[in-house]
Amino acid sequence: MNYEDFFRREIDGLHEEGRYRVFADLERNAGSFPRATHHHGEGTSDVTVWCSNDYLGMGQHPAVLAAMHEALDRCGAGAGGTRNISGTNHYHVLLERELADLHGKEAALIFTSGYVSNWAALSTLASRIPGCVVFSDALNHASMIEGIRHSRAERRIFAHNDPDDLDRQLSAYPKETPKLVAFESVYSMDGDIAPIAEICDVAEAHGAMTYLDEVHAVGLYGPRGGGVAEREGLMHRLTVIEGTLGKAFGVLGGYIAASAALCDFVRSFASGFIFTTALPPAVAAGVIAAVRHLKTSELERQRQRDRVAKVRRRLDAAGIPHLANPSHIVPVMVCDAVLCKRISDELLRTYGIYVQPINYPTVPRGAERLRLTPSPLHSDADIDHLIGALGAIWDDLGLRRAAA
Ligand SMILES: *Cc1c(COP(=O)(O)O)cnc(C)c1O
Repeated sequence: MNYEDFFRREIDGLHEEGRYRVFADLERNAGSFPRATHHHGEGTSDVTVWCSNDYLGMGQHPAVLAAMHEALDRCGAGAGGTRNISGTNHYHVLLERELADLHGKEAALIFTSGYVSNWAALSTLASRIPGCVVFSDALNHASMIEGIRHSRAERRIFAHNDPDDLDRQLSAYPKETPKLVAFESVYSMDGDIAPIAEICDVAEAHGAMTYLDEVHAVGLYGPRGGGVAEREGLMHRLTVIEGTLGKAFGVLGGYIAASAALCDFVRSFASGFIFTTALPPAVAAGVIAAVRHLKTSELERQRQRDRVAKVRRRLDAAGIPHLANPSHIVPVMVCDAVLCKRISDELLRTYGIYVQPINYPTVPRGAERLRLTPSPLHSDADIDHLIGALGAIWDDLGLRRAAA
């Protein structure tokens, strides 16, 4: 086989479909988020980032940076080992306590990323509980799908956010069959929110465990940033709450929060937890500062809600089609891969606005979009500039406007 030819042909296919991924080469500027320096063929230019998952700008928060500097100076760069073999740093222990407290659970367990936490926790639970059947929401994130797949447990997909369909599917199994219902609170591409209480009702009626991915909600929802389940008073009803430390908390890592026995079980059996180097102490220290800050500060959440509402109002007034939803995610629908890329290129080149086009397989073909994530740090002027740029591009390309 000519391996090189094979790789090139596969990549050519992506180009032809208009979904070849080009990474924007960015240099984030601490202190001036959402501003960044874009490195490209002709040098550099300043851009305003409109698609960051650093939802609240915690990645540059003074308390977070100070904690990271202090831990770096005190402990050095890396953890120096896996959690079991010399790598457990005191900051990891403190962070796990902080996260257990955030979700009102007995314990928490941190991982290298949210992806790894889903992959490791779901694959371990589903493979090690004898005869476990997993019920997975149709729109679950790739990390959950891969974890479930890896477990080789029997898997049933229920219709997205549909407790009735979940109920039907659970009913096909005897009450004593071990069951795990895996779903998300905020779905990151459409920005819709799961009916958590109804899903818990159905799961409880069938004796199923519940596993909720709150990756796009922790830090952002609930009076202490515990997520949508906290906001709705439901945290105690979920068996496992999973979150990331890399989005609203602004740094890196992932975790689960659950009973002491469940966390100890995953800690003891999950390959993706055991056989990998622990997070650098400075990373854990930065996250502790971010979580603590967002437990008591409502300022960032309030300002974010205000910015999101303003962007939506302005898009409506300009007739730029976007998907209505109850979250902080504003998907501007383009519904064509080539066009989506073209609009994104034009925003970047002419207006210094960076929004990555979202294509298949992240969203279905024909549902391509620009996913805007307004942060507390986007100013009125930033919003004016964004709406003006989108309006001009919509005119240039003769795109359809929504009725205002
Ligand atoms: C981003 C994401 C993850 C993975 O989290 P990382 O910390 O970025 O690895 C998990 N679940 C969902 C729904 C996500 O969007």
